[in-house]
Amino acid sequence: MSLNLKSKLPNLEQSIFSKMSQMAVAHKAINLSQGFPDFEADPELISLMQQSLYGNYNQYAPMGGIYSLREAIAAKTERCYGQTYHPENEITLTAGATQAIYTAIASTIYPGDEVIIFKPAYDCYEPSVIAQGGIPVLLQLNSDFHIDWEAFRKALNSKTRMVILNTPHNPSGTILKDADLLTLEALLKPTDTLVLSDEVYEHLVFDNGLHQSVSKYPGLKERSFICASFGKTFHITGWKMGYCMAPEALMKEFRKIHEFVVFSVNHPAQRAIAEYMKDSSRYEALRALFQEKRDLFLGGIQGSRFAFTPAEGTYFQLLDYSEISPQSDLDFAEWLLRDKGVAAIPISVFNLNRQDNHQLRFCFAKKSETLKRACDILCRL
Ligand code: PMP
Ligand code: GLN
Repeated sequence: MSLNLKSKLPNLEQSIFSKMSQMAVAHKAINLSQGFPDFEADPELISLMQQSLYGNYNQYAPMGGIYSLREAIAAKTERCYGQTYHPENEITLTAGATQAIYTAIASTIYPGDEVIIFKPAYDCYEPSVIAQGGIPVLLQLNSDFHIDWEAFRKALNSKTRMVILNTPHNPSGTILKDADLLTLEALLKPTDTLVLSDEVYEHLVFDNGLHQSVSKYPGLKERSFICASFGKTFHITGWKMGYCMAPEALMKEFRKIHEFVVFSVNHPAQRAIAEYMKDSSRYEALRALFQEKRDLFLGGIQGSRFAFTPAEGTYFQLLDYSEISPQSDLDFAEWLLRDKGVAAIPISVFNLNRQDNHQLRFCFAKKSETLKRACDILCRL
């Protein structure tokens, strides 16, 4: 029997994150590939989750999320960026940032609409656009991972429905600067182009750097979906909890799709996170924790033959291995995993035309002993 199945994503391969993590398990390698912590979440948060589970919060939450969590998100956004989002109609809880990103795209992109994506890019943007019949317009970042605004200006046209930003940036660890966002704001002013801003690493910024949320730029805020992740912020990637913020008119459309993708998300987790967020000092502690981890990792590879620019944000560090091997990044990553026991992510898979700059991405959201063991190996290469 022919089902006449026509794949919406015929060219999609297994994600590099799943592939490297599976191989890391199979070869018992130290897994610095997929981005997740190898340490536990705060016991206080786990205990709040237990209290929710025993506290009769096990039925559906309201479609947009419980109000106290939406209020906590609004208060945090006001505190961090001085910006107001109304909990009633401008904030929606989602099953991780992935669902927020998919929903924002599905609710606004029609077949033939162009969506500008900067490469290297996180892997969920392009398939989400293609699944709606949208056309990804891919622009490679400079060798220092900054946006070529002249190339952007040339790509912008009447079919450009959306531009996707990601700051702090996965995989490069760079952050967008005030001048970038001012340039974007000016370029988009005469257009009706929307912005999807993936800010999942907003609290992981180092060396007193500043996360520039698009919410701080009025000409961007009015046209932006901002997507965030509690998984990244509170070391609970497995809970799959995130949210989207957008002006009311955009959020209204977002919720029409959200309702039928998921309706509402994990109720006990929402309760736990809402309680946990009451203590605002947690964010400062988080910054310090990851600064220490980044510095430990950079200190650990100081004597190695890898070249690098310290990550400004995220929990990823790029290392250039050109001095160690002429191999492609896919081959080098596989050799490093199988023969040396350290798993990392090759960057070419995220680049335009799979451009290979001989760089691997290492996740430093790991226990000190894990980082030390990995650095010892990396220094011997
Ligand atoms: N965006 C980026 C840049 C990411 O690295 C990730 C991975 N966490 C996501 C979105 C997805 O976040 P979540 O796990 O909350 O779905
Ligand atoms: N965000 C994670 C990373 O960049 C991966 C999450 C996933 O596997 N989809 O490593």
